Amino acid sequence: MPLRAKVASSVSRTAAALSRAAGRGDGSVIGGWIGLKIDPDLLAHLSAGRAIALVSGTNGKTTTTRLTSAAVGVLGRVATNSFGANMPSGHTSALAKAGSTPYAVLEVDEHYLAQVLEATEPHVVALLNLSRDQLDRAKEVAMMAQLWRAALVRHTNVRVVANADDPLVVWAATPPGDPARGINPPHVTWFSAGQRWHDDSWVCPECGSTIQRSGGQWWCTGCPLRRPEPQWVVEDEGVLDPTGAWHKVSLQLPGKVNLGNAATALAVAAEFGVRPVDAVSRLGIVTSVAGRYAQVDKDGRNIRLLLAKNPASWLEAFDMADDAPTLLSINARDPDGLDTSWLYDVDFSPLRGRQVLITGDRAFDLAVRLDVNDVPFQHVRTFGDALRSVPPGRLEVIANYTAFQDIRAELDRVI
Ligand SMILES: [Zn+2]
Repeated sequence: MPLRAKVASSVSRTAAALSRAAGRGDGSVIGGWIGLKIDPDLLAHLSAGRAIALVSGTNGKTTTTRLTSAAVGVLGRVATNSFGANMPSGHTSALAKAGSTPYAVLEVDEHYLAQVLEATEPHVVALLNLSRDQLDRAKEVAMMAQLWRAALVRHTNVRVVANADDPLVVWAATPPGDPARGINPPHVTWFSAGQRWHDDSWVCPECGSTIQRSGGQWWCTGCPLRRPEPQWVVEDEGVLDPTGAWHKVSLQLPGKVNLGNAATALAVAAEFGVRPVDAVSRLGIVTSVAGRYAQVDKDGRNIRLLLAKNPASWLEAFDMADDAPTLLSINARDPDGLDTSWLYDVDFSPLRGRQVLITGDRAFDLAVRLDVNDVPFQHVRTFGDALRSVPPGRLEVIANYTAFQDIRAELDRVI
């Protein structure tokens, strides 16, 4: 590395360590930020010589990054930002901290994909899904898909592993004017992980006609865009690889959505030459990711924490949650997005018949929504009150970002 990059990298590590020592989080954002101030090309310098995978999408990035790191780890040491610092400062800090590693797997905020592609020149990019998120500041999803597509067109040597079930992702991964549009561009590998949320892709991003769906397939009624044939498919409790071999996947993470994340991880690792048969057992070592899916036992209650940040992830959380008492918690602080009108995009009716408790800064927004949705509920002030209000057994907790952090902190106090 050039001298300036070496100095910047060293200062970045020191700043991150100081921040950790001062108890101000893991320091990855501040460390990376300072490093990039000293050398704006630091991320590029730190990326040079590594085989890199980027993982982007609205939901599932953190978990998929963790699973992919585990799978690629078959080959050697992997640098990763698996705690969710997913902007260039976080990537810079993760690579500086890891020292020299042959591989890196980086979670990338979808808004930064173009910039990080440019800086890191990855071997492969995984595109998971696009759906509405943080209505007060995130881009419209169709605009996001356009940005992705424009970025990928500038990097045609990059392998793409993309979700065949999401029309916006398929469109973004397919070069403009490609006659094989929606079929199989040679640099793209398709996986199918299912898609429960359809409300951001009823209209074709190519021609504006309606998209129709039937039996897992989707197609545009006005142009050739349609679901490509996926090479990696979730089937039963495992994953079919492109040769047709089926691999049982035993995860410690719940839900079909995580089997889909596992399929993605195996597909990305295969781009580095990892055989699924070698990687699949390593996926089972991934437990909770930054507290997500964590299970805690307290006073005869088995509490499980599910993070749900936007409408698509709430649907997935309802799918994962057992038919048991459920605590919902909503905040609208800066990291959550300030606008809670998305609550009306979520159908809460799957919760009918369960004991539902609500809490959080914006519990009353949730109360109105549940009332409109005919879901009876009870308001509790604290997590401790919630615990005392439910019988022994499973308590599912579904919370958005800062509400989730609050509950983790409160759990630490009561345990
Ligand atoms: Zn179309």
